[in-house]
Amino acid sequence: MPTQSNLVGGSFLLKTTSPNDVFIAEEFSEEQKMVFDLVKDFMLREVHGMGLEKVATLDAEKDRDKVLEIFRKASETGLCGVSIDEQYGGMGLGFNTGLLYTEALSLGFSFATTIGCQTSIGSLPIVWYGNEEQKAKYLPKIATGELACSYCLTEPSAGSDANSGKTKAVLNPEGTHYLLNGQKMWITNGGFADLFIVFAKMDNDEKLSAFIVEKAFGGIELGKEEKKMGIKASSTVQVFFNNTPIPKENLLGERGKGFNMALNILNSGRIKIAAGGVGGMKFGLEKVIDYANQRIQFGVPIASFGAIKQKIGKIASTAFVLESGVYRVGADVDKKHDELLKSGSSGNEAKINAMREYAIECAVMKIHGSEAMCSTADESIQIFGGMGYSMETGVEMAYRDARITKIYEGTNEINRMLSLAEFYKRAFQTKELKIREAGKEIPMNVLKNINPFGGNGFLEPEFQFVENLKSVFMIITGSAGGKLKAKLVEEQEIVMNLADILAMAFITESAFLRVKKLSTMPGISKADLDIKTKMAQSYLYDALDIARTAAANAIDSYADGASKWAVKRVIKSLLKPYNINPKDTRRAVADFVLEKGKL
Ligand SMILES: Cc1cc2nc3c(=O)[nH]c(=O)nc-3n(C[C@H](O)[C@H](O)[C@H](O)COP(=O)(O)OP(=O)(O)OC[C@H]3O[C@@H](n4cnc5c(N)ncnc54)[C@H](O)[C@@H]3O)c2cc1C
Repeated sequence: MPTQSNLVGGSFLLKTTSPNDVFIAEEFSEEQKMVFDLVKDFMLREVHGMGLEKVATLDAEKDRDKVLEIFRKASETGLCGVSIDEQYGGMGLGFNTGLLYTEALSLGFSFATTIGCQTSIGSLPIVWYGNEEQKAKYLPKIATGELACSYCLTEPSAGSDANSGKTKAVLNPEGTHYLLNGQKMWITNGGFADLFIVFAKMDNDEKLSAFIVEKAFGGIELGKEEKKMGIKASSTVQVFFNNTPIPKENLLGERGKGFNMALNILNSGRIKIAAGGVGGMKFGLEKVIDYANQRIQFGVPIASFGAIKQKIGKIASTAFVLESGVYRVGADVDKKHDELLKSGSSGNEAKINAMREYAIECAVMKIHGSEAMCSTADESIQIFGGMGYSMETGVEMAYRDARITKIYEGTNEINRMLSLAEFYKRAFQTKELKIREAGKEIPMNVLKNINPFGGNGFLEPEFQFVENLKSVFMIITGSAGGKLKAKLVEEQEIVMNLADILAMAFITESAFLRVKKLSTMPGISKADLDIKTKMAQSYLYDALDIARTAAANAIDSYADGASKWAVKRVIKSLLKPYNINPKDTRRAVADFVLEKGKL
C-alpha cells in the first residue's frame, strides 16, 4: 500500500501544520541568495541605471531597440534559462529558487514582465509538457534568448472564459501540418516573439489543444503595440494567424488537453505574481523609508509622524507576511515534485502534478500579493506627496505597473472563485481532502478552544486565531452549503467572502509558522524575533477584520431565523477581539525598518 502523502494542496485548512514542515525565507542557501543578487544587480545596473524618469517613458514601440538590448543582455547573463534543465542549457533552478529569482526580477518594472514571460508562461509549456524532440529543438535556444517566447491564450471574445476561443487548427489533407486560423489578443512579448505557444481547438473539439508555433512558419500578422496604463515597455500586441502551417510534430502534449495545460501554467504564473509583489513591496519600502527620513516638514522628517509610521508599518508587515506564504508554497511544490519523482513519475509528470497540487495556495497568494502590491504603490505615492505624482521618482510608474497584476493570470475575481472551486473539488469529488473527518473536529475545537501548540505560551493566542479562521471558513461553508446546496457556487458574492476567509487563514498561518520556526533557530536575535512577531501580529489584526466583515456579509446573505443567530454567535466567539495595541505594534515595526533602511 502506498503511504498517504502529507503534501496535499489545501490540507492546511484541515490540519495543524508544524513549523518544522514549512520552509522559511531565512533558510535560503548562499547559492540561492547568489541567484537573487545576480538578478538584482542586473536590474539595478541595466534598468535603474538609465534613470527612473527615462524608464517611466520607455515605450514598447518607440523604444523597441532598447527593450531588445536589455532582453539580449539578460539572456547573456543567463536570466532566460532559469527554469530550463541544465541538459538543455538552462540553470535548472528548483521552483522555490525560481520564486526568489522572480522576487528580484520585479525590480525591473516592465522588463520583469518581458523576462518573466520568457521564463514562465512562454517557455514552461515546453519545459513541462514537451517531448524529448521538442525540448531538444527549442529549449537551448530559449535559454540563450535566441528565441523570444510568448503565450497566446486570450482572444477578443475569450478572456476569463479562456476555453471559449475560436482559433482553429485543422490537419491538412496531406496529414503533415495543422493549418492555424484565428486571432489572439493581449500577447506579452508578441511584438518581437519568435515563438508562440498557441491554444486552439482542433476540428470540432470542445477543449483546446496547444501548439508550438514559430514565427518563421509564416501566416502570422501582428497588431500595433497596445497603448497601456502601465508596463509600457513590455510589448503587448494582437496576433493574427492566417493559415499558419504548423508541422504535425509541434502539437504540444495531448490533443484536447491544452486547457488543462493553460490552467496549470497559470498556477505557476500566479505564485510568481505574488513573489514579484513581495519584491515590489520591499523595494517600495526602501524608497519610502529613504524619502520619509529625509523629507522635512514642520521642522522634522515626515518619518516621525504617526500617520506615516502607520503606513510604513503596514507595508513592512504585509511584505513580511506575504513572503512567508510565497516561499512556503514554493518549497511545498519542490517537495511534492521530489516525492512524485521518487514514487516513479516521469520528470514531466512530477513538474506538472506538483504544480497542480497547490492550485488553491497559488490562487490565494496571487490575489493577496497583487492587491498588497497595488495598495503599497498607492500608499508610497501618498508618502512621497507631490513628488510621488511626478515621473521623476518612479513611484507613479510602480503604481501604474502594479495594477495589471490584479487582471492577468486570471483576474482576482476568477482566482477567488477558483480557490473555492478547487477546495470543493478536492473535498467532494476527488476526496483528496478528508473534509468529513476534519468537519467532525470543528465543534470540539470551538467548544474547547484547543491550542494545537500548547506549550510555553509563545504565540498561543495567535495560533488559536489561525485555527479559528479555519473553523470559521468550515462552519460558513458547511452552513451555506446546507442551505444553498449546489446553488452556493452561483452566489458569487458569498464565494468571494469565503475566499477571503480561506486566504486569511493560510496567510496568517504561514507568518506565525515562520516566526515560531525562527524562535527555535540558532542565531536569531531577540530584537529580530520581536519585530517579526509584531509584523505577523499587525497583519493578523487586519486579517481578523477582513474575516469578520466577510463572515458577516456571507451569513447575512444566505441565513435567516434561528440558524442565522446561532451561526453568528459562534463566529463572533471565534473572531473575538484581538488584544494587541495596533498603533504601538505598527509603530515598533516602522521604527525598526526606518532605522534599518529596509525590511
Ligand atoms: C497587459 C496585458 C498583458 C497580457 N498578457 C497576456 C498574454 O501574454 N497571453 C494571454 O493569453 N493573455 C494575456 N493577457 C490577457 C489577460 O489574461 C486577460 O485580460 C484576463 O484573463 C481577463 O480577461 P478579459 O480582459 O477578457 O476580461 P473579462 O474576462 O472580460 O473580464 C472582465 C471582468 O469580468 C469579470 N468576470 C469575467 N468572468 C466572470 C465570471 N464568470 N464571474 C465573475 N466575474 C467575471 C472579471 O473578473 C473582470 O472583472 C494580458 C492582458 C493584459 C492587459
